[in-house]
Amino acid sequence: MKPLIAIVGRPNVGKSTLFNRLVGRRKAMVDDMPGVTRDRNYADVNRFDVPFILIDTGGFEPETSDRLLQQMREQSQLAMDEADLILFVMDGRDGLTPADVEVVEMLRRVNKPVFYVVNKIDGDRQENAAGDFYSLGIEQIFTISAEHNRGVNDLMEEVIAALPNKTAPQSTRR
Ligand code: GDP
Ligand code: MG
Repeated sequence: MKPLIAIVGRPNVGKSTLFNRLVGRRKAMVDDMPGVTRDRNYADVNRFDVPFILIDTGGFEPETSDRLLQQMREQSQLAMDEADLILFVMDGRDGLTPADVEVVEMLRRVNKPVFYVVNKIDGDRQENAAGDFYSLGIEQIFTISAEHNRGVNDLMEEVIAALPNKTAPQSTRR
């Protein structure tokens, strides 16, 4: 079994942009995964020669903040149940939002690696915008631009290093 990485976050933070950035041309949909729904995209990815399955948790654009929170809770729960590692993406242009804060509280309780990512930091001048997010008390925040491929390699190096080793042959596993 390849490890599963789930991308979670509010609508429009750039989850799908990051997904596409990581999938690149090698995009291969994995349709026979259990529990595939239309608002979830699965792809086989190889990064630094490490294979994994990437999940883009999509979803609709909620009309109310209640619906938004509900969707975020569902999305996060799914990722917490199913994934081996979670990429929680926030929006450096919007700044920290209450929905982000709530999901971070959920993710703190999960016993899996969680990477906190602030997207849309397109250049050095935007780095300041990430300051907000340090109030979450998270040790390491990754600032990236999924669109401009900034910081993505640094993030993925650490992500790969944190993946559980599930790629070993069956015979060597219990
Ligand atoms: P999702 O709803 O979280 O999947 O977000 P999308 O990937 O669909 O992106 C939402 C919007 O943010 C789109 O207009 C993207 O072009 C834009 N976007 C995504 N990544 C970046 C980025 O790194 N920088 C900037 N400036 N815009 C971005
Ligand atoms: Mg999307």
